[in-house]
Amino acid sequence: MKLQSLFLCIIGLLTSCNGFNNENKETESKNYRDKLPKKLSIIIQPFDGIPESTVTILSEKLKKIYSGDVIINNSIVLPQKALVQSRTRYRADSLIRFLGDFAKDGQLIIGVTNRDISTTKGAYPDRGVMGLGFCPGKSCIASTFRLKGKNRNEKLFKVAIHELGHTQGLALTKTKHCPDKACLMRDAEGKDHLDELRYFCSKCKPILIKAGWEIK
Ligand SMILES: [Zn+2]
Ligand SMILES: [Zn+2]
Repeated sequence: MKLQSLFLCIIGLLTSCNGFNNENKETESKNYRDKLPKKLSIIIQPFDGIPESTVTILSEKLKKIYSGDVIINNSIVLPQKALVQSRTRYRADSLIRFLGDFAKDGQLIIGVTNRDISTTKGAYPDRGVMGLGFCPGKSCIASTFRLKGKNRNEKLFKVAIHELGHTQGLALTKTKHCPDKACLMRDAEGKDHLDELRYFCSKCKPILIKAGWEIK
């Protein structure tokens, strides 16, 4: 009888002890969560003409390195006001301004198009580019028009994270790019070096991790 009550008493102690620990752990993890920077949601805004499968693959790839929400909006038409006079390209700077109005608080938006986009760069008033993003800001755009080869989806993903990186304030040099030739924040300099880009370097990575990215 004595043994039995002693056993019950120990069980009782263990249980309350466990309960006490859980309570502490919950408070601890809540405090920890409160201290973490709030993660932004990435909104993918497809423009008419881009295949749905391309957008889905981009979203899946982004989800692998970003633990916040990645949401695909319904496709919309490109704004005619962004079309340049020659009617061959859309101004990328107009498009990111246009997209910026779609982004709510806590959201980052990336437009995806298969049309050619351009911006003013040095002596070129209207140079075709693969992407453009505010640095820092809420919006950016990526175009598949200049992406060639079998691995276009992987290239689009690299353009997208480069531009999203700019929105997070990634701008290491005067040209806002990284001197590391294999870093995803390298300047394209009018060429397609995308296959050479393999990682976010040790200078770029911490900036994104601080912003809530989970880069392996
Ligand atoms: Zn850039
Ligand atoms: Zn870098």
